[in-house]
Amino acid sequence: MLIDTHAHLTDPRFEGSGEIISNMEADGLERIISVGFNEFTSAYSVRIAEANEKIYAAVGVHPSDANEVGQGYTGTLKDLASSDKCVAIGEIGLDYHYENTDKAAQHRVLTEQLELVREVNLPAAFHVRDAYGDFFEVIKNYRDRLTAGAVMHCFSGSKETALVYAEMGFYISFSGSITFKNSKAGEIISALPLSQILIETDCPYLAPTPHRGELNYPKYVRFQAEKIAEVRGLKVEDVIKITTENAYRAFPKLK
Ligand SMILES: [Zn+2]
Repeated sequence: MLIDTHAHLTDPRFEGSGEIISNMEADGLERIISVGFNEFTSAYSVRIAEANEKIYAAVGVHPSDANEVGQGYTGTLKDLASSDKCVAIGEIGLDYHYENTDKAAQHRVLTEQLELVREVNLPAAFHVRDAYGDFFEVIKNYRDRLTAGAVMHCFSGSKETALVYAEMGFYISFSGSITFKNSKAGEIISALPLSQILIETDCPYLAPTPHRGELNYPKYVRFQAEKIAEVRGLKVEDVIKITTENAYRAFPKLK
């Protein structure tokens, strides 16, 4: 069965996610990791996870929320990370996509959370968009502290970049964008060791083809498995089995 390793079940459009969770079995989903992007959605994700056996959480402040953090936010995240259901610190990283991003705030919040990663010894879930060069400059000084490993979520960089992180032992996670007509992800998927590939939806964003432009749901993670199967010449069921095993290895607290 499938695991959606990166979903935002806290999105108001999911209205508490009760329906998504009760349909998991029928949709072929065995686990979902609900990922926080600020203090509120991190706490909310842990709450959903603690109330539902098949849901797990990641806690962190997204680079686009770096300006909004309150004092002592890393203490709040640390408390949340102590939950049995919290499997990672994320999503954290750098995002230069939008103009007038406060790069200094993004760097400060990223490095503060990298300290937290070391303290709690959980895997890091990284969000990097239009910032792969700067991100590497930060991460190369921290790689020794990433003792529990890391995931490059919704990977959108080049094949060369993917291989650099794979070489460092990171997992490369693919979202619905790999199903888009103009996607160049095929050559990246072909080049990576299968044992380091994860799949995710990043829902409610980035619905895969044939649902592009609609609201995205965890069950659509199947389309990413289908795409990888097509590229690698494998059976979908084998890709599901491999990526699910990878998810349990990438996130040791995921049971
Ligand atoms: Zn996300």
